[in-house]
Amino acid sequence: MQMTPQSPRRPTKPDGARDSRAPERTCVGCRQAASPHELVRLVAGPDGRVALDPKASKGGRGAWVHPTRACVEAMAKRHAAERSLKVDVQRDLDGRSLVASLREALTRKAASLLVVASRTRTLALGTEAVTAALERERVAAVVVARDAGTSAVSLAEEGSGSGGTRVLRHSTKSELGGVFHRGEVALLALLDTRIAAELATTIDRLAALED
Ligand SMILES: [Zn+2]
Repeated sequence: MQMTPQSPRRPTKPDGARDSRAPERTCVGCRQAASPHELVRLVAGPDGRVALDPKASKGGRGAWVHPTRACVEAMAKRHAAERSLKVDVQRDLDGRSLVASLREALTRKAASLLVVASRTRTLALGTEAVTAALERERVAAVVVARDAGTSAVSLAEEGSGSGGTRVLRHSTKSELGGVFHRGEVALLALLDTRIAAELATTIDRLAALED
């Protein structure tokens, strides 16, 4: 790694300050500053209505909000997104429906992470494969369906005992099965730490949208 001896134009940050390369944004819900990675972007759609831009890929003016129920509902109530995006106030802007679309977007993201793990062969699916993976390989995370039986839960918890394997409770057996075009899947293991970390963040964000 190449070291840069000095960067005179960048102000020196005090020790312990978060080093985020992206400039901070202000959440239009709670008005706190945060890194864009912690926020979700909103844009005005072609119809002038506030729309989510979960991948932060759309052009034009953007507004940012914490992906939490509290911030999204505060934003909708005060019409802060419309003001920030400089579009007409939407009397019918509904915090609940924005939370629902956010939840859908995060659910799709979680599923696509599992598909990526499958395609990159860093996934073990089902009890037998997970047991074998826990014995033989470094497992970054075990995902247990929320409606999984006690045997699946204890297998995951025992397996996580040694060496930093996370246990993530997520989704249902039939939804997890649906991701892989199978029947029910109660248990799966992720071998890739980056995918596991990203899934853990996505699951945390889903939890922050609950009532
Ligand atoms: Zn906020």
